[in-house]
Amino acid sequence: MSLQTSRLPLKKRIRRALSDGFMRASIAAAQDLINRKRQDRFAELGDIDSWREAAAEIRAHTLDHLDFYLDRFVTQAEASGCRVYFADDAAEANRIAAELLGSKKARKAAKSKSMVTEEIGLNEALQEIGVEVIETDLGEYLLQIDNADKPSHIVIPALHKDRERFRRVLAEKKGYSGDAAPENMTRFVRGVLRQEFLSADVGITGCNFAVAETGTLVLVTNEGNGRFVTTLPKTQLVFLGMERLVPTLSDLDVLLTLLPRSAVGSRASVYMTLLTGPRRTNDLDGPDEIHIIIVDNGRSEVLGSPFRDVLRCIRCGTCMLECPAYRHISGHGYGALYPGPLGAALMPALGGYPAFKEIVKICSLCGACDEVCPVKIPLHKLIFEHRRRIAEELRLNSRLEDAVFGSAATALGSPFIYRTATKAAFLANLAPRIGPLRGWTKSRRLMKIPTRRFRDWYKKHRAQEGN
Ligand code: SF4
Repeated sequence: MSLQTSRLPLKKRIRRALSDGFMRASIAAAQDLINRKRQDRFAELGDIDSWREAAAEIRAHTLDHLDFYLDRFVTQAEASGCRVYFADDAAEANRIAAELLGSKKARKAAKSKSMVTEEIGLNEALQEIGVEVIETDLGEYLLQIDNADKPSHIVIPALHKDRERFRRVLAEKKGYSGDAAPENMTRFVRGVLRQEFLSADVGITGCNFAVAETGTLVLVTNEGNGRFVTTLPKTQLVFLGMERLVPTLSDLDVLLTLLPRSAVGSRASVYMTLLTGPRRTNDLDGPDEIHIIIVDNGRSEVLGSPFRDVLRCIRCGTCMLECPAYRHISGHGYGALYPGPLGAALMPALGGYPAFKEIVKICSLCGACDEVCPVKIPLHKLIFEHRRRIAEELRLNSRLEDAVFGSAATALGSPFIYRTATKAAFLANLAPRIGPLRGWTKSRRLMKIPTRRFRDWYKKHRAQEGN
């Protein structure tokens, strides 16, 4: 995969998403359930705003001194026995990975869920050199065997699927003969994946956080697959988005307090793996080699732009679960690897306006995402700034939009035109029947514009009162 997950035009993507009744019901149920749980878990913390403030400060401070913390992390990670590489872009990250796997003559890699590897299209790159990549997160695995379907949420990737669909896919692709009960299908997949863990030549993971003071890699999972991936294969490849650093273990404590509460409404993730260097002589398990690939892929540019605050993101997915637009169109409606408010703020900054100028329109600027983001990213302001740039600086809007807003500006700037236009405004009552608004008004009722203006009515009544 890469940053773009669909080449369909925006309208078509949205229409398709809106017509999928199951998906919409499923997203709405997940939003309601997880948001309720999140509020309960946050209430237990007391003054939640001071927690969010602390987390935002940690992330902002790290970004302000990213070069220093990167240097510190690399020094500590290498001192603990890891090898560290820097990749400027997706091609370089994939090339480093391909060379490492080639040097090990690897044929199979077990991988735990990682957004940065999706971002650089790692699976496709490794498949090209003959390496089979097995996704081991349950949701990702089911999507992978379902014709490599795309995730619709960054934490709950298969949110848009129903269990019957998975039963059919497991039966067709893996010979499953049981029913559609989630626990039975999970047990079956667990058995399949055990063999994959044992036979994989290499383990591949992302990294939720990397601790600069100790060179520690932090992985947060709920299924234990991350533990298998990091302990069974002898060689470990870790892909680290360059902004995912935290200065100290105490800072990590704050972020790990907020991440699972935000992501799924639980007090803690089931598995938290902290890896500092490869296996030592007396360790019972662990990889013999850890290779860390630090991925830039556009982050440096975002860091130097007005959108740098979006790099504070800890990928909890909460903004999506709070967003009314995401509720109706899911991740697939965005056609981007990172959907929801995070995607609308991040994707144009990371992937450029030519590919992502449309995504910023999927936002009502209600600001609900800002209220829940655990690291206080001003998401709706960033989305608004994208819109402003697209319209005013880059003039990337359609001619029709330019014409409409240009005429409005002229009318509002001239008292004569404004007066004349407001006198004739009632003619717009015809627009829903004859103009381009016909489609728009199919499901909406437009307010009727009165034939007499308020100012005329007021003038007349004042005159009558005066008599
Ligand atoms: S932008 Fe904030 S709420 Fe959204 S995924 Fe990132 S940290 Fe979570």
